[in-house]
Amino acid sequence: MNLRAQIEALDKLATLDVSLTKLEAELQREGAVLSDKKSQIKKLEERFESTRTSVGDMDRTRAELLQDARQMSVQMDRSREKLARCRTERELNATQREIEELRKLYRDRELEIEKINGLAEQARSEMDGATTERAALMGDVTSNDQLASRLELLEKQVAAEREQRKELVKAVLPVLYRRYELVRKRRGSAVAFTFQGTCSECHMSLSPMIFQRLRRGEDFDQCPSCQRILYFREDPVAGANEADAAESQGSETTT
Ligand SMILES: [Zn+2]
Repeated sequence: MNLRAQIEALDKLATLDVSLTKLEAELQREGAVLSDKKSQIKKLEERFESTRTSVGDMDRTRAELLQDARQMSVQMDRSREKLARCRTERELNATQREIEELRKLYRDRELEIEKINGLAEQARSEMDGATTERAALMGDVTSNDQLASRLELLEKQVAAEREQRKELVKAVLPVLYRRYELVRKRRGSAVAFTFQGTCSECHMSLSPMIFQRLRRGEDFDQCPSCQRILYFREDPVAGANEADAAESQGSETTT
């Protein structure tokens, strides 16, 4: 295998994975915002529908109660007429009791209708509330559109980078790629370099034996501390804050 080419491919893969991980997290976050909004709207619509159904039930019940009350009223009129025609004390008492009974039933219906009116009013204001809330969620058209187009863009970017990744993976030896994935899943990143004896990621010192082997550029190694795939880098540009130290020691290691 060509070690240089492998290092280059691994480094490109590592850079891409950083970007891809960030994009995927962002996509998930933004997607969650949108689906949360959608599920809130759905809940409001369901609440509106179920309230509307119960208002319908209440309207029907009230119509029945009104019908009942009207009939009782008619019956009461009839009983009052009967009262005038009563001849005996017994008849009179019985008719009066009948009227009393009807009056009580009529009153019961009235109370029930009042109760239903109160409940229906409450339900209607709940429906209004749900409509207003839903309108607020739907109404912010610009922000919804922005969110949707942002999601679309993110999806495209993620798809493009996944394609790019497939190509990069082809350039990496399968055994090396497996190791890369194993470490990446555990550590978030899987590639590190050394130029003066420490691991660029975990900053632990490497044994002179490992360091010399890496410097000879014969093979990869794994950092004994963080397990990242290690290679020797002559030009430590990436480790900018270590640039000073590199100069003093870099002179004796350059070939
Ligand atoms: Zn390390």
